Amino acid sequence: MTKHTITPPSAAILGDAHTCGCGARLDGRMAAELHAAETGQCTVCLGSAEEQVAPGLDRGCTACAATGRRREQMVWQLAHAEAEQVITVSVVREVVAGFDGPFHLSEIADAVRDGLGLPAGRLPVGPRVRDVLLGLQAAGEITMLSAPDELLDGADVVLYRDPRWQRAGTLGSGL
Ligand SMILES: [Zn+2]
Ligand SMILES: [Zn+2]
Repeated sequence: MTKHTITPPSAAILGDAHTCGCGARLDGRMAAELHAAETGQCTVCLGSAEEQVAPGLDRGCTACAATGRRREQMVWQLAHAEAEQVITVSVVREVVAGFDGPFHLSEIADAVRDGLGLPAGRLPVGPRVRDVLLGLQAAGEITMLSAPDELLDGADVVLYRDPRWQRAGTLGSGL
């Protein structure tokens, strides 16, 4: 069996060509993604199971749950779509309303998971809850209290591990 290990362009000077262990030369990102799909690999990380968050910082590919496989990527895509339908803004808002003081992302995610009776690990509850909370933050309903855990690349990339928010109306009390 030929091993399809797709390698990104190693230097800009070589142009935008990915190469594959089977000998294929893949011109451009699109061709590389297509070859990944054809060979059963994740089209986001091209089978490497890692994604580069910033230069020098890799983490497990979130699209395929760090497996590098196309099958897992598709299962995970469906799970994300399902999470969006099940974990609505009003579900999250209701949980948040129960917190008078600051709360962590993980606390809200746990409460949502318990409230909906979701088994752990089946749906991407954390990422979905984070997206909803960021939406509430943008709408001014909650305020983020955490400073980023990591500033990368001169603060162009900001990473939060488990950020804390507080409801706007309760700021200043309960601290
Ligand atoms: Zn190949
Ligand atoms: Zn992947």
